[in-house]
Amino acid sequence: MIQDIKPNIFYNEYNNIKIDDKSRIIIFRDDEVLIKHNKEQPLNIIFPLYGDYEFKKEELIYLFRIDDISYYLCEDDIGLENQGFKYESMFVFRTALPKFDAFAGFTAHHLYCWYRDNKFCGRCGKKLIHSKHERALICDCCSNTIYPKISPAVIVGIIDCDRLLMTKYAKGYKNYALVAGFNEIGETIERTVEREVMEEVGLKIKNITYYKSQPWGFSSSLLMGFFCEINESDSITLDENELKEAKWFRRDEILTNEIDISLTREMIYKFIREGKNGCIK
Ligand SMILES: [Zn+2]
Repeated sequence: MIQDIKPNIFYNEYNNIKIDDKSRIIIFRDDEVLIKHNKEQPLNIIFPLYGDYEFKKEELIYLFRIDDISYYLCEDDIGLENQGFKYESMFVFRTALPKFDAFAGFTAHHLYCWYRDNKFCGRCGKKLIHSKHERALICDCCSNTIYPKISPAVIVGIIDCDRLLMTKYAKGYKNYALVAGFNEIGETIERTVEREVMEEVGLKIKNITYYKSQPWGFSSSLLMGFFCEINESDSITLDENELKEAKWFRRDEILTNEIDISLTREMIYKFIREGKNGCIK
């Protein structure tokens, strides 16, 4: 998955912050990112380095570290578009190399959206300032503290013996996926699984089993993957606002060739390898 960057190690602690010449500077323009890259697949991406250009230190926001490389966010592209850098869709991070830089860009976009969308206090309207002690924005007028927004969501592999239920969203991502949805205030994550499955495909389920989680910077989410089995009927009632298709597939009917960066894809592969006679343990 995109967060699996071994042997490199991701450190998101908000301490020991030290900028140096090899620190990477990540600059977004909404869903685009400023990079240099080769022209061939897979793309090798390069972020601007602090030591190579005239960035203003006070305009940089510390993000995190991977091994001994620090990453910073900057709103000002200081004219780097004229120096070989280009704004590219951030979807390049799905396949780009090196993998740890791709994960850094993917994760930086989550933080970029949060900083971009939280300039002013929602309680009193005053401009927010950056905490020096933690990853938080604070209002020195009313003491409001705003922490990064992470939306919990579920991905659900629904199994009926040797069949897996795959879906296509009504909008956006075009390939087959699994039932998915956001946790609502007041409900447990297991209840989210039950509710989303009932809402999207009208199935009752049992034996809900947690699989793995994945930070998903494209939608500021934390995805949690679950497998479950149907309880009684396999008859699908489609929520046409959310989905345009939901269909049962046997293992040998599933075609998948996408690079393995997403939890959804990993769960589908897991089902192909191991899924038979009910829920995957
Ligand atoms: Zn305030």
